[in-house]
Amino acid sequence: MIDTHAHLDMLKNKDDILESVNSLKAIITIGCDKEEINKAVELSKRFDNVFASIGFHPYDVNDISDKDIENLKTTAEKNSKVVAIGETGLDYYREITPKEKQVYFFERQLELAKELGLPVVIHSRSADEDTLKILEKHSPYPDSGVMHCFGGGVELMEKTVELGFYISFAGNITYPKADNLRNVLKKVPLDRLLIETDCPFLAPQKKRGKENKPVYLIYTLEFISEFLGIDKNQLEKITENNAEKLFKINKYATV
Ligand SMILES: [Zn+2]
Ligand SMILES: [Zn+2]
Repeated sequence: MIDTHAHLDMLKNKDDILESVNSLKAIITIGCDKEEINKAVELSKRFDNVFASIGFHPYDVNDISDKDIENLKTTAEKNSKVVAIGETGLDYYREITPKEKQVYFFERQLELAKELGLPVVIHSRSADEDTLKILEKHSPYPDSGVMHCFGGGVELMEKTVELGFYISFAGNITYPKADNLRNVLKKVPLDRLLIETDCPFLAPQKKRGKENKPVYLIYTLEFISEFLGIDKNQLEKITENNAEKLFKINKYATV
């Protein structure tokens, strides 16, 4: 399995990092602010099968400037295991930062990803319309990207797939009340489907209430395989191939 979106540095028990690194084929760890960006890069250097995606989360754009985007560029250029930019995007669910700032730095990071030739990791919550408007404005995306922890509607999924993006589901797809998400899931083309934990958040139903970690990705894989009626091993292979293609990580030898 490949966990396409984990916040490894946030795991409270550091043994969980080792356990996950030893159990999964690869993990993309995310750095969302200045401190976490450094931690994500460090983790990718320490473990062969850990890769970093670095950027500024919409919660973390309040006190940054264009200079920080410049620094992000330098960090990405200097480290070959930085395989994507983000997570970046819009979060209107908890409007922790003003919309204008979220939009501004979302657009800067979309531009940066293109400049660097990297895919972009998109966070969009309660912001389908504006996310789509901005993504369409900046298309095309020759290096693609992923709508991580997908939580939007069918229209956002279909239009971002048209733009060339992948759709990634996290543990919340397993929650009893997530019928709307499962309605999206059944329409996602299999060659664009990814899975993630978004750990330490959103533990799958079977581990709900616990701190999430990459080894729990199996519960999301099993759930989706059952829901879609696809053999588990086959679905694992499909999602691994998609992740390797998107993040261009097949050139690295992994476990
Ligand atoms: Zn996110
Ligand atoms: Zn995240």
